[in-house]
Amino acid sequence: MALPRIDNLEITKVTEDILLVHQIKQPFFFSCCDGLLVLPKNGRNLKTISLDLNIEQEYVNLLNEVYGPISDYICTHSHLDHICHVHAWEEVGTTIHAPLPEASFLLDLHNFYLGFGFDEGLDYSTVKEFANLNGYQKSKQVKAFTPGETLKFDDFRLETISFQGHSKAHIGFLLSNEKVFHISCLGFDKPDPETEGFGPWYGFKETSISQYLEDINKAEEIFLQRAKFLTSSHSYIVENPDISPFDYMRKKVSNNQEKVDNALNDSNNTHTSEDDAVQHLLDMDLFFPKSRLKGVIYEIYRFWESWIIRKHIQRSSVFNTLYPP
Ligand SMILES: [Zn+2]
Repeated sequence: MALPRIDNLEITKVTEDILLVHQIKQPFFFSCCDGLLVLPKNGRNLKTISLDLNIEQEYVNLLNEVYGPISDYICTHSHLDHICHVHAWEEVGTTIHAPLPEASFLLDLHNFYLGFGFDEGLDYSTVKEFANLNGYQKSKQVKAFTPGETLKFDDFRLETISFQGHSKAHIGFLLSNEKVFHISCLGFDKPDPETEGFGPWYGFKETSISQYLEDINKAEEIFLQRAKFLTSSHSYIVENPDISPFDYMRKKVSNNQEKVDNALNDSNNTHTSEDDAVQHLLDMDLFFPKSRLKGVIYEIYRFWESWIIRKHIQRSSVFNTLYPP
């Protein structure tokens, strides 16, 4: 079947009846993510299923005209770029599923605010303004499931794989019969093979770099043993046995560690505590160009970066040598 042409959407076949969809121009940095459409197939699913395709309402409506009815939508975790526009799928009659413990974040932004620990550093109004910039609207009803569960829709089997380093709920999808593995937001975020992204993201208190590294190994093993195609939320399709996404992610994490270690080394033993070191390194704009940011954007990036820096300080042999506990 020929693919429809929809302005501002890039639609690519992963297999004959599974499509990767990407919204090209996006309203803001954390508004959208790529996802999969599993088209109906005899003996599998009777209606189209949408996997974590968080794009603006007008595109949801256009896809629904071509591929609808869409029976189910499965969200991978509740970061903003995965929940802003999910309400649009609900409005075309789709049942929304989301993993615990973040399923309720789709229903109320205040759950999102508390759930990710924003309350430890930011006012609710800041987070609300940032969510509004990204077009967040809440969903009305969500069916929760546990990461690791296998979901079934007619005869379509969807294994959910827990990758907790990124967020407690965060999952990948293994479409085992179709040999497609969607690693969601694990950190393979290169727009094309030549362009770098940010890499693995761990800017909340609940994230863990050591868990992240385990997740990357686990994902690599699943890909090599059980899948032919690798897709993710912010990148292109990769084919087995190309393991460059996993090497890329590990490299990004180790480069980040090096940045923090170098900054600690350069600051000549002047920190009195971990908090003090975090504050000092934050002012150096190691990860985000915060000196060029303003208002809520500045505050949000500073909050995220404080966790990224703290996670690396806690793993830093430089810091532990300079400042024995
Ligand atoms: Zn995420």
